[in-house]
Amino acid sequence: MIHMKMDNCLAQNKFNSDDQHPHIVIDPEQCLTCGHKACTRCCPAERYQWDEENQKLTFDHVGCLECGNCRLVCERLNQSLPGYSWNYPEQGKGVVFREG
Ligand code: SF4
Ligand code: SF4
Repeated sequence: MIHMKMDNCLAQNKFNSDDQHPHIVIDPEQCLTCGHKACTRCCPAERYQWDEENQKLTFDHVGCLECGNCRLVCERLNQSLPGYSWNYPEQGKGVVFREG
């Protein structure tokens, strides 16, 4: 079985990202107070990364598969608390699945 890196897997799809209006917004500074950081474990596209050494959370909306997992596990995204929002991309934007 061949194990592909996530970026290579995602490259099988096409992404028309809206960099002016990211469909998911988080506040990495506020995320530092999050006790579970479940987003880093639930995202199938590995868009959330926790850097333990530098105590820093990074998120990249490009490559998002729009599954909604992060909205389910993150109470701040789920409740659209200040600094956080989750929406589907505007019509015609986002992921275009080519495989799977
Ligand atoms: S689960 Fe939500 S609040 Fe916690 S680190 Fe992830 S995005 Fe931030
Ligand atoms: S919607 Fe799914 S693919 Fe997109 S960032 Fe959230 S968990 Fe990852």
